[in-house]
Amino acid sequence: MDHVNSAPEEQSGLPRHCKVLVVGGGISGICLGVQLRKQNIDDFIILEKSLDAGGTWLNNTYPGCGCDVPSLLYSFSFKSNVAWTRKYAPQPEILQYFRDCIDHFSVTDHFRFGVSVASARWDDTLKQWLITTDSGETISCDYFVSAVGQLSRPSVPTIEGLDLFDGSLFHSAQWPREFKPQGLNIGVVGNGASAIQIVPELAKSASSVKIFQRSPNWILPRHDHRYGVGWKFLNRYMPFCARIQRLFMYLAFEMRILFYNRRTFLNKAFTGWTRYRMRRKAPSQLTHELIPSFPAGCKRVLLSNNYLESLHRPNVELITERIDKFTASGVKTKSRSVSLDAIVMATGFETHRFLYPIEVTGKEGSSLTQRWKQRPQTYLGMLVPDFPNFCMLYGPNTNLGHNSVIFMVECQVNYLMQLIKLTEASKADCFEVTPEATTDFDNRLQQQLGKKVWNGYAKNWYTNEQGYITNNWCRSTLAYMWQTRRVKKSALRFSSRPCTKTADATPNVC
Ligand code: NAP
Repeated sequence: MDHVNSAPEEQSGLPRHCKVLVVGGGISGICLGVQLRKQNIDDFIILEKSLDAGGTWLNNTYPGCGCDVPSLLYSFSFKSNVAWTRKYAPQPEILQYFRDCIDHFSVTDHFRFGVSVASARWDDTLKQWLITTDSGETISCDYFVSAVGQLSRPSVPTIEGLDLFDGSLFHSAQWPREFKPQGLNIGVVGNGASAIQIVPELAKSASSVKIFQRSPNWILPRHDHRYGVGWKFLNRYMPFCARIQRLFMYLAFEMRILFYNRRTFLNKAFTGWTRYRMRRKAPSQLTHELIPSFPAGCKRVLLSNNYLESLHRPNVELITERIDKFTASGVKTKSRSVSLDAIVMATGFETHRFLYPIEVTGKEGSSLTQRWKQRPQTYLGMLVPDFPNFCMLYGPNTNLGHNSVIFMVECQVNYLMQLIKLTEASKADCFEVTPEATTDFDNRLQQQLGKKVWNGYAKNWYTNEQGYITNNWCRSTLAYMWQTRRVKKSALRFSSRPCTKTADATPNVC
């Protein structure tokens, strides 16, 4: 493809033009970077607003931080790792793994750190995207890829008096390095996936930990263990052993989707089993507060070996009254004032405004934010009509409650690589998904989502204000792999700049 600026000039470390511009240096950005390198597409950059790569695994450094998917599965299919020390590796090991991937596949030089993107605008004459950074530089690119993910912007609820609190107050994803919990009275707002990892760690040294729970969660044990010398030896010298373990883990996790259909025997059995497990571990006087009344799976089922156990400690208290307001000395609920030295807001992420605050404008001035006012509508969670050469990784409706999201990201990267190749092979300048294919995909998605347990029972972060499930995929990951395994040409249009039209490269070449 011809570029308007085929000889890139540097502007404070950024080229004026590149073929592929990726926003976000987390798991998806790294995965795409590796595949671009592998397929000898070197004219790409990855813009990352932080000063390092790793995304969520760079930002979340709270005590006890780890993943609730086993590390053998929560890793790329193309890069195994014999260095895992445990079945569920802690955050520093996960971050190191992604850093190793960047080094191993020589992606480092493609990163530009400390660069935030303000806007992206499609120029239909040039058939290029014009990306503007917060500091005002503009980069043109042929393909614009969002890899900003779903969990990058911390959400802090607006509760009265939040700014009045005199002690330390911070979000779980912005843990201050210098924070020492020893001897402090600490409040933890929220009891989601982050909070249940933080609380047991704080409880070890804090004077007291008060958990402010708004609604309960289903919690199952995490079958974690250290990997011994034998395991490491086997996996180093017989790598297929790790492959086989990974396959079995994948299949076991994949089966869990069967439990997530609403009003089914399997979901009821799953709920009953989880209730039984929780009753065995939770303090008996708290079972009423801790055990949800909605079906298991409705909110993300949490895995922990030490959260319910930590509630037995004398210095840990569960408070289920709503927070009325924050005061200079702590928190006020309906019936009491709780004095605190520090407050951790483990209140999750802004998961519904995809790509926010980047202003993305497609053909004829179409704004993605306006288009998605009600809910995002995409093709495969990746493509949007009127937004040519634009692709999202870990975009709307591609999150999972039952398996490794890395699998989904790899499916998407595979699809995008095919799409780029196909566009180039067609001697076209751009691809664009058709509205018909998008509507068809969306109708099926909504139909399937209607059967899922996330629907209608309790508030969860998968559902937006309008009541639509905007984050989760609706079926098995195998089904997603099947749909993304090959580019369906009938779902796409390929077109060229008028000036490059030739007899065999007409607009809409498909
Ligand atoms: P989360 O699951 O969304 O939990 C947020 C918590 O904050 C919930 O308990 C929520 O209560 C509470 N909350 C929100 N607003 C509140 C308010 N105004 N007053 C009181 N409580 C409030 O967030 P997260 O724990 O940070 O986890 C987010 C996602 O990150 C997870 O679902 C997971 O996908 C990922 N994560 C994964 C791991 C892992 O091991 N893989 C670890 C951490 C995070 P309600 O439940 O009532 O809404």
